[in-house]
Amino acid sequence: MVTDAAARGLKVRAAGSGHSFTDAVCTDGVLVDTSGLRRVLAADPGSGLVTVEAGIKLHELGKHLARLGLALENQGDIDAQALAGALATATHGTGARFGNLSSRVAGMRVVTASGEVVELTADTDPDGLRAARVSVGALGVVTAVTLRTVPQYTLHRHDRPLPLGETLARLDELAGANDHFEFFLWPYTRTAATKTTRRGQEPARPQASWKRRLSEDLIENRLLETISRVGRARNSLVPRLNRLLASSMGEGRLQDHAYRVYATKRTVRFNELEYAIPRVHAREALERVLDLVERRKLPILFPFETRFAAADDAFLSPAYGRDTCYLAVHQYTGMEFESFFRGVETIMDDYDGRPHWGKRHYQTAATLRGRYPGWDRFQAVRARLDPHGLFTNDYVLRTLGPVDHTAVQSIMDEQGRSSALEADDA
Ligand SMILES: Cc1cc2nc3c(=O)[nH]c(=O)nc-3n(C[C@H](O)[C@H](O)[C@H](O)COP(=O)(O)OP(=O)(O)OC[C@H]3O[C@@H](n4cnc5c(N)ncnc54)[C@H](O)[C@@H]3O)c2cc1C
Repeated sequence: MVTDAAARGLKVRAAGSGHSFTDAVCTDGVLVDTSGLRRVLAADPGSGLVTVEAGIKLHELGKHLARLGLALENQGDIDAQALAGALATATHGTGARFGNLSSRVAGMRVVTASGEVVELTADTDPDGLRAARVSVGALGVVTAVTLRTVPQYTLHRHDRPLPLGETLARLDELAGANDHFEFFLWPYTRTAATKTTRRGQEPARPQASWKRRLSEDLIENRLLETISRVGRARNSLVPRLNRLLASSMGEGRLQDHAYRVYATKRTVRFNELEYAIPRVHAREALERVLDLVERRKLPILFPFETRFAAADDAFLSPAYGRDTCYLAVHQYTGMEFESFFRGVETIMDDYDGRPHWGKRHYQTAATLRGRYPGWDRFQAVRARLDPHGLFTNDYVLRTLGPVDHTAVQSIMDEQGRSSALEADDA
């Protein structure tokens, strides 16, 4: 398909589950549907290395791994994504000790622009792998991924509302001391709906399905949908509706296999922007976003979400080289979001914020380049694997720019300089 499209002068993009809020997937050229690529190709429970086809959905992968006594090290809050789609945008969960999904990738098989199938590993092509782990689909079509999985574990989740002041005062402690910690905050309220999760090996105690349906279907989705519709129709009611939603958040506990705890059901449509900032700025940034909404009296119906992740080394990972706090803001579908999202983005700019590649933002290659120390090395890999920009679309052009052949030279110069320095040292 790739060589055929190239011969016809068409661009190529791969689609996962289409769950990105940006136009990351879109093309007028050839769109490769990867949903048929869903087999487990190899698994070694001893080392935890598992190779799967890249279009497998995370929920299918979770079940396969459980049968092997294995699990993903961490996950985000839905599992509808295709593995390669989730990796391409650096999808993450929460947990200050854990990196995003792509930090667990040991190898990738990629169909490049020439139609060649290349195997990227830390041994065969270290820069290639660090670029491909988070690629925004700009290097080729990923067809298989080798993951470093972990032995299956149980999660004990404790949900409880806490006063916002206390949560912010203890933020670093809560993020650092717990395996997984996150919280939701509705503007115009002072309640943090916290989720604190511990990892263990105790037996799973699956929640009765009617109980889970009650909390997920009725409260988290139907109640939210109804209240959101009211708020969309009468913006002035939003502060009161938010207080109602925040006060409906009770205390709850869950103990089950990890893959059944991480993911929740999300049926209410919304728009989202999410930024990765150094963890040390989490409190100040969140307070500024809250102030922005309340000072401008913006009708923001959905809660802010605050999560944490460990630093990693994929060139385009928003958590590259720094322990990270992820701050996400949302707006219900059909409601104006751009002025709010732009306001939040301006705040995040002050913290050298890096946007989630799959969520809305307004950055360009010019504004992003200086925020990623590995930018030129990513571009050098891109120039090597896709010299003519076959895998480019409007989103890639805006956020990564055109293929930059000078990047290869600048990396070679840099490598030359460091070898010379090493030789001098020797
Ligand atoms: C309700 C909801 C909840 C979410 N929760 C989280 C969360 O908890 N944490 C988080 O970090 N994000 C979250 N996201 C964002 C989501 O994880 C990302 O946008 C993810 O990329 C979507 O995966 P997908 O399979 O739908 O990919 P798509 O949106 O289909 O594609 C994303 C990118 O991957 C590329 N791609 C897909 N398959 C391939 C392939 N085989 N080879 C090469 N490139 C490929 C596409 O071209 C595109 O650039 C959420 C999104 C929604 C809608």
